Amino acid sequence: MIQNEQAVELLQDIIRIRTENDHETEVANYLQALLTEHGIDSELIELEPGRSNLVAEIQCGSSEKTLGISGHMDVVKAGNHDLWQHAPYAAEIVAGKLYGRGSTDMKGGLMALVIAMIHAKEKQQFNGRIRLLATVGEETGEPGARQLSDLGYADDLNGLLVAEPFNNHILYMHGGSYNYKIKSYGLSAHSSTPQKGQNAIQHLRDFMLVIQEKIDQVIAQYENAKLGRTIHSITLIDGGVQLNSIPEYAEYQANARTIPEFDNDQLTHLLQTTVDEMNALDKGYHFEFELLADMPTVVSDPNSDLIQVIHQVSHQDNIELLALPGTTDTAQFQRNNPNMDVAIYGPGDVNIAHQIDEYIEVDDYLAFIPTFVSIMETYLS
Ligand SMILES: [Zn+2]
Repeated sequence: MIQNEQAVELLQDIIRIRTENDHETEVANYLQALLTEHGIDSELIELEPGRSNLVAEIQCGSSEKTLGISGHMDVVKAGNHDLWQHAPYAAEIVAGKLYGRGSTDMKGGLMALVIAMIHAKEKQQFNGRIRLLATVGEETGEPGARQLSDLGYADDLNGLLVAEPFNNHILYMHGGSYNYKIKSYGLSAHSSTPQKGQNAIQHLRDFMLVIQEKIDQVIAQYENAKLGRTIHSITLIDGGVQLNSIPEYAEYQANARTIPEFDNDQLTHLLQTTVDEMNALDKGYHFEFELLADMPTVVSDPNSDLIQVIHQVSHQDNIELLALPGTTDTAQFQRNNPNMDVAIYGPGDVNIAHQIDEYIEVDDYLAFIPTFVSIMETYLS
């Protein structure tokens, strides 16, 4: 068993490794050595030089039930170190707070998971498999999680526990959000001779009618049990310059709330195809599609076995189930396994992530280690 004093030193060590959007292999090597010392095999999966994910798995009993545990090894930039009262890579402890870039987001959660995995291996009181997925690049587009997911490492997970900091609450859903713009180019003319122009507003109206009909079909066809159906709203419109001139330009912007059954990529395809089809008609149309924001969706059952287990073992009666905007690696792991249980639950205060003088409460970090062991043993019982 790793005692508390050593658990704190292990966390300090990985905070001292500077993984600002790069160099995660150094943390992966450190964790691999720690796991090897405790009889756990692991493998590095390289995304690019200097940036390797780490995967490790332990098995106990005959069950094939598999719990994924995940954390990212990258941190956001510390910025100007002079602005920090506690140097960002010194891992100083003052008055019960361990300071450092990545302490709360999320080397604290990651190291708590790794130590819990070691304890679970030593205790041999679970029945199934525990797979560690330590990733690169979560803060910059989640390419590490995407790579592991595309290689199949999430395909057979029954549940995924991601130790991001949410103030001891559980995030179980990310709403998908998708913003786009359609631009309509026409030709100006005097409004007494509209046949000499191309009315960009009338063209845009035609597009809006066609796309709404197509999206209504999507809405009718696809439904998610928790999030419901796709929502599509045109929310901004702009066009024309003068009352007696045929408008040469018009645009609208729209927001969609997406569900896994008809995801952001499918929506992009629908919009681009519609633009291409209408531009090919002999009607003077000239539309362009622009993607403004693409946040993938995570959906899971708030009453899943994994979340029930967390309620059962955490001894906290004030845990809230959160559904928030923003994204985590979960979005990438869920691409290839949409039905797994998901709980994003770890030590630390989300409000001080990415801040100057980021810290984690040492007691909060240490308390999560036995909690994570209990989650593993109860979920895989
Ligand atoms: Zn994070």
